[in-house]
Amino acid sequence: MTATPKTALTIAGSDSGGGAGIQADLRTFFACGVHGMTAITAVTVQNSLGVQGFTDIPSDVVAAQIKAVAGDMGVDAAKTGMLATAEIIRTVAKTLDEVHIGGAEGAPFVVDPVAASMHGDALLREEALEAIRTELFPRATLVTPNLDEVRLLTGVEVKGPESQREAARALLTFGPQWVLVKGGHLYDSPRCVDLLSDGARFIELEGPRHPTEHTHGGGDTMASAITASLAKGLGVPDAVAEGKRFIERAVEESYPLGEGVGPVSPFW
Ligand code: PLP
Repeated sequence: MTATPKTALTIAGSDSGGGAGIQADLRTFFACGVHGMTAITAVTVQNSLGVQGFTDIPSDVVAAQIKAVAGDMGVDAAKTGMLATAEIIRTVAKTLDEVHIGGAEGAPFVVDPVAASMHGDALLREEALEAIRTELFPRATLVTPNLDEVRLLTGVEVKGPESQREAARALLTFGPQWVLVKGGHLYDSPRCVDLLSDGARFIELEGPRHPTEHTHGGGDTMASAITASLAKGLGVPDAVAEGKRFIERAVEESYPLGEGVGPVSPFW
């Protein structure tokens, strides 16, 4: 018998292709040495070519999954990914309050505001964007939007360092403690710059850009690696720096699979 590891909960959708969603979160938690737990919000039908459709899980079942694990095993940190509907988002917010996850006093809580796949397939019903802003952002320790999600949530089109800061400020008005505006495909440059801010500090995290088209699940993997570090007790800037190191390596080790976009890899 070994000591009980720290625990991390992902509240997210299933990817039948195994590259993103719950499947990416669990393997990242495993690779980071924390015990992963899941509250599944939706089941997607997808492969390397895209998302063919999804069915959402009844919101009371989502709530019951969260309460079951929080009440028995405890949650050292949690994250959300694909949440599918406004009703699920409202239920998740209420349930997180009940089990003391997020907010000023609760366990660290990362919101990855997943709206669409990289192929442009919707993963969130339209009316749900507002619920992410009003229900989840005020409870979040950290939000981790990519540039498309930034545009949807704030209307800010990030084109360079100035607008990346403007986007961070706009996101902070919705109430999260920290925002990470991921530069991803921002600049036509060999570097990839993410901006982390709590309103007082603006921390640029710069790393290399690896030339690969196989980046499926990249956003989920980074948010999960950050969540694992928060579960282990790191502060937000250190957890994000760890998450960035993890995703750089995972992109470097990504592999082709199927006829479309292959996944990033947490194995090395
Ligand atoms: N499917 C699920 C269930 C997801 O959560 C996500 C992203 O969060 C995706 C698909 C899309 O991943 P990607 O845009 O990396 O292909």
